[in-house]
Amino acid sequence: MSSNGNKLELPASIVVRDLALKIEKSPIDLIKKLMTNGVMATINQTVDFDTAAIVVAEYGFEAVPEIVEEAAGKEETGEVPLWRQMIAGEDSKQLTPRPPVITILGHVDHGKTSLLDAIRSTDVAAGEAGGITQHIGAYQVEMKGRLITFLDTPGHAAFTQMRARGAQGADIVILVVAADDGVMPQTREAIAHAKAARVPLIVALNKVDKPNANPDRVKQQLAELELVPDDWGGSTMVVPVSATQKQGIDDLLEGVLLVADSNEIKANPAGTVIGTVIEAELDKSKGVIATLLIQNGTLQAGDVVVAGTAHGKLRAITDFKGKAIKKAGPSTPVAVMGLNDVPVAGELFQVVKTEKEARAIVAERLETAKTQAQARKKVSLEDLFANVQAGEAKELNLIVKADVQGSLDPIVTELNKLGEGEIGLNILHAETGNIGNNDVMLASASKAIIIGFNVQADVDARRMAEKEGVDVRLYEIIYRMTEDIEKALKGMLEPKLVEKTLGRAQVLQVFSASKFGRVAGCKVTDGILKRGAKVRLYRGTDIVYEGDLSSLRHEKDDVKEIRTGFECGVGFKNFNDIQPSDMLVCYIVE
Ligand code: GDP
Repeated sequence: MSSNGNKLELPASIVVRDLALKIEKSPIDLIKKLMTNGVMATINQTVDFDTAAIVVAEYGFEAVPEIVEEAAGKEETGEVPLWRQMIAGEDSKQLTPRPPVITILGHVDHGKTSLLDAIRSTDVAAGEAGGITQHIGAYQVEMKGRLITFLDTPGHAAFTQMRARGAQGADIVILVVAADDGVMPQTREAIAHAKAARVPLIVALNKVDKPNANPDRVKQQLAELELVPDDWGGSTMVVPVSATQKQGIDDLLEGVLLVADSNEIKANPAGTVIGTVIEAELDKSKGVIATLLIQNGTLQAGDVVVAGTAHGKLRAITDFKGKAIKKAGPSTPVAVMGLNDVPVAGELFQVVKTEKEARAIVAERLETAKTQAQARKKVSLEDLFANVQAGEAKELNLIVKADVQGSLDPIVTELNKLGEGEIGLNILHAETGNIGNNDVMLASASKAIIIGFNVQADVDARRMAEKEGVDVRLYEIIYRMTEDIEKALKGMLEPKLVEKTLGRAQVLQVFSASKFGRVAGCKVTDGILKRGAKVRLYRGTDIVYEGDLSSLRHEKDDVKEIRTGFECGVGFKNFNDIQPSDMLVCYIVE
């Protein structure tokens, strides 16, 4: 491709941003090129040499493998989310102002929920619709004829998660500080988040109605954190409010509009449709319901959407009041139905042309996620000893969840005893309740193992744990747990074999083939069938065959694998008693 001998040295894998720098092209442009080549990557994701070679060839470079030298330390800067990059890449003439998207952060009990409720109820427009505001994790209010979008997720945790995914949705943070309590640890954390995400911040000085409120003291504390209040000559807007008395809410909203005006908050309604998943759940009767925040472009009913590894054609779109709508533009929160799977909150979604394209993107993502998970150094209990020997671990970080305080305390005591040996045990967090996303995020960030006692892991959390390579271990008997940990600390734990289902297929008909005897003509109902994997044939709940999947055909061809929706022929070694309506489960043991 490179007629001018434009050789470019590339490593085995490279972060998209670095690749763009290397060829001196805009990252947006590069991301688009990658997309047209079927690779979905954000600016912070890595692509392998082969992929990089293909795209750089389009810019006239010939990629050659780099002689490996230690890469310079990567600096930690606030990353710009993909949707912002997308908007930045739009034709500036097409950009029009959109409602600002607000998230409310602050210390626990300082009044985040009360403030969200107060804002929602002051809005006449919301009231007029008959008060059927359903909770979809976001809502909009009108102020001076302009809309403002509020993210109504459980605040802090959701923001952390979104940020961790590089997809934060907010344009402005409202930091709630209780005037009677002042700056607290989570206040500081929230400030740090807003700073790292480069999101402007307004302070809602809440609970000013309380007799012991001390606004000046709070302002002093804020000033010490480089948030000098505007009435003290600084640039941080501090608005006194009372959420419960509904005082100062209008001032706060006007403040939001002012901040919005001094920060270009724009998007292209006619551009590429992209946004963030705010929340999602599986409804027994309606299927997957996801709340999406559109950040660029216009989403329409019937659009094919990919959100993380979920995809589907949108059957219905409703606004936050539950009213069916045909389309929605930038900064609008909507609830959608039609996705085949529950996407993870904070993930980006995009609109693609066809369902085929959507499936291809998802397949690619699953594959990448798998290789990334394999590449990432997992901390599993099984690997612990090896890591210790390799000098990579000196202690084991644990997050402990239990059903009741009564079992949590003895568990922590037992674990602390175990941690007195050569390898220390470090309990980062011990709490009652099921294992949720936050636990997994914390475990992933701190290379910890999650121990659950008499609790479950939420569906979302389980999926995220798999993605992030976090070891989640559930126990019902304390000594089993301590035994496992003790063995692991001594390097005696036997590797855990887990069965992973790859896919399922329905036997539709049975026919004869000379080579294999009888062959099951199947349709893959979900996941994937892979030649070489294990297979189990069910008749009702009975297992009638168990063995290797050694013959897999699509039409007349031998194939390595076959995906959801496709038909195939499967033969079983030395087994002929196949019947229509048998179910086939394909799995691997890891
Ligand atoms: P969150 O944990 O930050 O969501 O805080 P909440 O909204 O749940 O509020 C915590 C407590 O503070 C509740 O008992 C509220 O009624 C109370 N509260 C919230 N805002 C105000 C306020 O403006 N004035 C007074 N007096 N109490 C408030």
